[in-house]
Amino acid sequence: MKEQDSIRSIKGIGEKTEKLLGKLGITTIGDFLGYYPRDYDEYKEPVSVQGLKVGEKCAVSGRLTQKPGLQSTGRKSVVTASIREGEQVLQLIWYNMPFLRNTLQTGGLYVFRGIVAEKRGRLVMEQPEIFGREDYQNMLHTLYPIYSLTKGLTNKFMVKTLHQILEDREMVQEYLPEEFRNHYQLAEYNYAVSHIHFPTNREDLLLGHRRLVFDEFLFFILSVRMMKEQNAETANGFPMKPVWETENLIESLPYQLTNAQKRVWNEIETSMTGKTLMSRLVQGDVGSGKTVIAFLAMILAAANGYQAALMAPTEVLAKQHYEGLCALLEENGLPYQVLLLTGSNTAKEKRECYGKMASGEVSLIVGTHALIQEKTIYQNLALVITDEQHRFGVKQRETFSGKGGKPHVLVMSATPIPRTLAIILYGDLDISIMDELPAKRLPIKNCVVNTSYRPAAYRFIQKQAEEGRQIYVICPMVEESEGLDAENVTDYSKKLRDILPDTIKVECLHGRMKANQKNQIMEAFAKNEIQVLVSTTVIEVGVNIPNATVMMVENAERFGLAQLHQLRGRVGRGEHQSYCIFIQGGEEEETKKRLEILEKSNDGFQIAGEDLRLRGPGDFFGVRQSGTMEFRLADIFQDAEILKQAGEAAGAILLSDPDLSLEQHYRLKERLLAYGKERIEMPGI
Ligand code: ADP
Ligand code: MG
Repeated sequence: MKEQDSIRSIKGIGEKTEKLLGKLGITTIGDFLGYYPRDYDEYKEPVSVQGLKVGEKCAVSGRLTQKPGLQSTGRKSVVTASIREGEQVLQLIWYNMPFLRNTLQTGGLYVFRGIVAEKRGRLVMEQPEIFGREDYQNMLHTLYPIYSLTKGLTNKFMVKTLHQILEDREMVQEYLPEEFRNHYQLAEYNYAVSHIHFPTNREDLLLGHRRLVFDEFLFFILSVRMMKEQNAETANGFPMKPVWETENLIESLPYQLTNAQKRVWNEIETSMTGKTLMSRLVQGDVGSGKTVIAFLAMILAAANGYQAALMAPTEVLAKQHYEGLCALLEENGLPYQVLLLTGSNTAKEKRECYGKMASGEVSLIVGTHALIQEKTIYQNLALVITDEQHRFGVKQRETFSGKGGKPHVLVMSATPIPRTLAIILYGDLDISIMDELPAKRLPIKNCVVNTSYRPAAYRFIQKQAEEGRQIYVICPMVEESEGLDAENVTDYSKKLRDILPDTIKVECLHGRMKANQKNQIMEAFAKNEIQVLVSTTVIEVGVNIPNATVMMVENAERFGLAQLHQLRGRVGRGEHQSYCIFIQGGEEEETKKRLEILEKSNDGFQIAGEDLRLRGPGDFFGVRQSGTMEFRLADIFQDAEILKQAGEAAGAILLSDPDLSLEQHYRLKERLLAYGKERIEMPGI
């Protein structure tokens, strides 16, 4: 089988499994190979009973001195055994495996592996795996891959299938020039892929990881640079002049633009009225005020007689932008028509929208992915803005340009990438950085606490609600899930309804709700008809409700710091003092330290840097830092060194061979083109 073959070509994968894998974004053999583990389970050196650590997964070696006991009631059975060392005893328990009583040999030496718990002062391991001493020795230090799954798929299935694929597939011919592999000490491609899934030890894993991260960066940089090259030569097909409408609007805002906003607006205006096509990334921390800048750019296009579109990653956000833009136009007496187009419009509504867009009746269009559906035809689209950049990409620009001339593109992102790294990724010219928060904001007050602090937090929430403010509570899960010890929005909202007085309205919000339902809840929250919103991270991007002053995050340890920082950005947007309460589920010292970074700083860049320093660059097992960018393995911060090398390599390749036409770059080019096609959501320009 080849990488581009369908997963149906794997023996045993039928329609049903195909569908499930589709949910993970896996449709081809190549996708499957590129579905890297989210973590690894290491077979560590076994310890003695004395060396066990409560709460951790351990392997313990010992001798079974007594025959295992068996208790059974009805169909249920429990087998118990124990190993001891001096005074210390470890109890082993297996449920519904009665045969173990006979297969485990009294007097035998074993290795048991499982999570150590303490119950009534005794150490216990439930359902431990069982190994003979030699068998375990053979597995020592191997890393067993753990994959993110969806209901209906098991980890075992993933492992089995990947083994099968790795055995049967056609090897990919190495596509990186030899000199680069040598110079940057990169593992061979096929080796890297098989070892990222099934590393025999940590060194292997690191080698494989390094190579694949290098490739991700290299491809990204090559695509951006090659595209930029093209764009730099593309004339601005939409001649524009600066207009008084934007000047007046800035004058009449209820606040002064920050200097950073002014500078960025100036850069945008200059490029849109310039000679060549604009591709610009606006980077600014949450709350830096990117939206109003986007609106100004749209109005500039409209006032020059063109259309402009703003695309948001969620309906909630699209709707908010739509309303914000309508209000702004009205306040300023500007005549442009705005249209909101999302997936929850009915077919009839959509047809109407398409009609208005095609005729040029509307000049400003706000929406979600629906904006780039096949049937959308624009009349004169001069500008496309994507908010929260990571969900959109290169392919989308092509889709837009298929409908007329190539539009200017403005990408707005809150992902905090240090400028030096952003320049490597995007090139020097077109980054605008908004490095200033509006003045007069009160800094958010933060605390990291454990679950015993909850009652106090609830009292605080009540008080804030009674003062007229609003509150977000974030839980990692939608509903209760077996084996996962984390809070969920369904039960949590019920609990809060019981605890808080009836005058405080509590609602829940999550991604599995219908878009309409979500919109209704967000609207009610925006109108302060709901005071406490218990939500999953669907609320994470962009939402702006200045009256909300408390952000409480349950199981904060389950989120990356960048994500927590985004969540925190939902409060502190208005005139009132805001608060952020991070509740830590476990007691782990390390997670505590990590979370305390947030307590100390409200600055996205600094947080990212500190987090990295704390974990050290080699640690990619933890929560990914800039997981918001669409790299599979690479992390801008952790892999900053590799990023620099990839940037250097890309530069050298393009210098000697700008369109990759030399023979030694032939396979690389092929691969790059495939990457561009496969990657639906490449970040950037
Ligand atoms: P983000 O950069 O995270 O998208 P927003 O554009 O949503 O931030 O702005 C956050 C809030 O700050 C909004 O309520 C907006 O009206 C307000 N805001 C924007 N610019 C300024 C400014 N210069 N002074 C005061 N408030 C501002
Ligand atoms: Mg925003």
